Amino acid sequence: MTITLPPYEDVTARFEPVIGLETHVELGTRTKMFCGCPTGFGAEPNTQVCPVCLGLPGSLPVANAAAIEATIRIGLALNCTIASWCRFARKNYFYPDMPKNFQTSQYDEPLCTDGYLDVEVDGRPVRIDIERVHLEEDTGKTLHVGGATGRIHGATESLVDYNRAGIPLVEIVTRPIPGTGADAPAVARAYVTELRDVIRVLGVSDVRMEQGSLRCDVNTSLNRPGDQWGTRTETKNVNSLRSVERAVRAEMLRQAAVLDAGERIVQETRHFHEETGDTRPGRSKETATDYRYFPEPDLVPLAPDPEWVARLKTELPELPRVHRARLQQAWGLSDLDMQAVLNAGAVELIERTVAAGSSPEGARKWWLGELARRANEAGVDLSTVGATPADVAELQSLVDAGRLNDKLARTVLEGVLAGEGTPSEVMAARGLEVVSDTGALGAAVDEAIAANPDVAAKIREGKVAAAGVLVGAVMKTTRGQADAKAVRELILSRLGVQ
Ligand code: ADP
Ligand code: MG
Ligand code: ZN
Repeated sequence: MTITLPPYEDVTARFEPVIGLETHVELGTRTKMFCGCPTGFGAEPNTQVCPVCLGLPGSLPVANAAAIEATIRIGLALNCTIASWCRFARKNYFYPDMPKNFQTSQYDEPLCTDGYLDVEVDGRPVRIDIERVHLEEDTGKTLHVGGATGRIHGATESLVDYNRAGIPLVEIVTRPIPGTGADAPAVARAYVTELRDVIRVLGVSDVRMEQGSLRCDVNTSLNRPGDQWGTRTETKNVNSLRSVERAVRAEMLRQAAVLDAGERIVQETRHFHEETGDTRPGRSKETATDYRYFPEPDLVPLAPDPEWVARLKTELPELPRVHRARLQQAWGLSDLDMQAVLNAGAVELIERTVAAGSSPEGARKWWLGELARRANEAGVDLSTVGATPADVAELQSLVDAGRLNDKLARTVLEGVLAGEGTPSEVMAARGLEVVSDTGALGAAVDEAIAANPDVAAKIREGKVAAAGVLVGAVMKTTRGQADAKAVRELILSRLGVQ
């Protein structure tokens, strides 16, 4: 079916979106969820396995206490109730990356329930209700080889690596989020960003979307105002924060077109394609009964001691919201300025730049100005634009020391982004530095005065403002490398005005 997509404004004028997010976080524990195998990333395939995580007959699992503690801490940070008693469950399905033919997960007795996470979108607070946070284990990884695309179609062989099988995985599920209208894509992104930041400060995972330690499924539905919520689709393969936003928007447009054509939305999983920015169908959705869940008989129930949970709660670190408020104060920013920093996703970058020695003002100027523009042009996140906080701090200190002016600093930054090295390396290699040494400037100043006798005369008469013309001329002959302030002073003293 070929469909023409309506304009976004038209879609949000006629439909109301509901979104819901399911996020998987791979915990950074030293060992796996139910056995003692190591969890390091990037090892030789099938070298971090044992009878338990390979599901060999007779092997018995033991739950990893560090993973349980990490999950409880996530639950507490998300304002959840922690179960005083709960169990693991078997989720039965057959798939080559799942050696046991079932996944040990949690079903009707999750460890954490009924929480919330407050986020802000354009300065407006939005409370996202959390339905559950539960603990499960990751699957292995299949690799399809021999084809052009790495997909199973056209492949000659499929290989399985079980190193990842059994790594603890926390699933965080939101309740449906209605009422966000045209902001739905931005709300989805704000939520995943905030969730990532919360989990990062807890120190329980490195939450890297590009490495798969944070994975997000995006549920979207549309309904006409006054109608019941529509049928949702679940978009997988969303590998960056930007894609979270794009995936919701793409699904809203597609569903509107389908509904406009008088057809129904099919409940299914879909895949987001980075290159085209659209979603394509995956499998039609299983229901819970397909999995034949039942309580895991090989594991004892979990009954976290309430005193332990209370202590974990008091020991939570400062959460991102509180931390941001503190930074705003320290940086002396208005709400609006802080909002701009947040929208640019630059809080942490600025914080690290300041920690590397920059003034807050200087750090903010680079990240929100030149670097934001570059990131936007290249369609990448600010954090991957190609300059590090240390680079920016160094650049700003060169400006503060008067060794670079604004224009030269931008040229140096260009070199840094092109991979030519750190700011001082680029400066040295390209021979860029402000010339403030009066001897070297003297000749250029004399030349400018000689070439503009009428301007010089005006200045001698006291029309100091005319000096700008001569400063401009000197800057031109020194290819922008002169210190404008020094040039101006030199001109005035040469002409006897100072
Ligand atoms: P499943 O495992 O079948 O995907 P879950 O309960 O784990 O089901 O997750 C369903 C997700 O979809 C939740 O985040 C929920 O809030 C969301 N959701 C449920 N109904 C809708 C809807 N009509 N529109 C959008 N999202 C929805
Ligand atoms: Mg799900
Ligand atoms: Zn193992």
